[in-house]
Amino acid sequence: MTVKIILAGPRGKMGSEALNMIHNEDKFQLVACIDKPNSELPDFTSTTEVPVYSNATQCFTEVEADVYIDLTIPEVGFPHTKQALEHNIRAVVGTSGFTSEQIQELTTIANENKVGCIIAPNFALGAVLMMLFSKMAATYFPDVEIIEKHHDNKIDAPSGTATKTIEMIQQTRQTKQQGHPDEYEIMQGARGAECDGMRVHSMRLPGLVAHQEVIFGGTSELLTIKHDSFHRESFMNGLKLAVNEVLPLQTLVYGLENVMDIN
Ligand code: NAP
Repeated sequence: MTVKIILAGPRGKMGSEALNMIHNEDKFQLVACIDKPNSELPDFTSTTEVPVYSNATQCFTEVEADVYIDLTIPEVGFPHTKQALEHNIRAVVGTSGFTSEQIQELTTIANENKVGCIIAPNFALGAVLMMLFSKMAATYFPDVEIIEKHHDNKIDAPSGTATKTIEMIQQTRQTKQQGHPDEYEIMQGARGAECDGMRVHSMRLPGLVAHQEVIFGGTSELLTIKHDSFHRESFMNGLKLAVNEVLPLQTLVYGLENVMDIN
């Protein structure tokens, strides 16, 4: 079966990698793109014959598609994903920064329409394993801090991956206030963001892509679980997996680990 795909954000760093991935996958066919009005797409062979819409409603009404991929910004990605599901088009969302209320709203629409949706904070398969290993470790190591590092064009912090890692750790870790009970900051933010007593530190520098260390402290021992994405190519195997796995789904799945064969 050929999987017909609409891609939003084709000029972006993730979107242009996705264009290549779709082009190189025999089973996938790009049928339309959604982009800002008057944007010129780079000359990708796969898109030369493909319509580019700036109006998502028009795109979802006119184009017959199996899967909508969103790699944009949350302000655009959320309403577009909602519309895709309302048009019974399955959605795969890589865009980070959706609120839990927005994810809940999309879950309700997916369930009502019996249409699949996968929201993946991180498509890198190694990063998904990092999160799962962190969940395992937190049972025995409740003292944990996360350092996430991204390129300096990223606007949200902490990253979707760090937030998802915290959520997964919370499933096994006993709530604990970490550090000295009387600790204080001489410089605001020195101890990072706090969630359930855990600390998250976000670094933004040119040269970085997407990196995270989850550091567990124990009695005279440290456990560090570390993952690096050196290029956005690293996300494409997971994106491909998500497009295939969303096809039979009739609900929303948050996190690639829930469709990977590892549980
Ligand atoms: P990016 O290079 O800034 O790409 C975003 C693209 O969306 C840009 O081309 C932007 O156009 C476009 N856009 C803005 N408004 C739009 C609209 N109304 N319709 C269609 N396109 C629109 O960012 P990126 O690095 O590719 O990342 C994209 C998203 O994926 C971000 O949310 C990022 O956090 C997330 N991400 C997810 C993963 C994962 O594994 N899940 C990995 C990396 C990144 P302009 O440049 O003209 O504004």
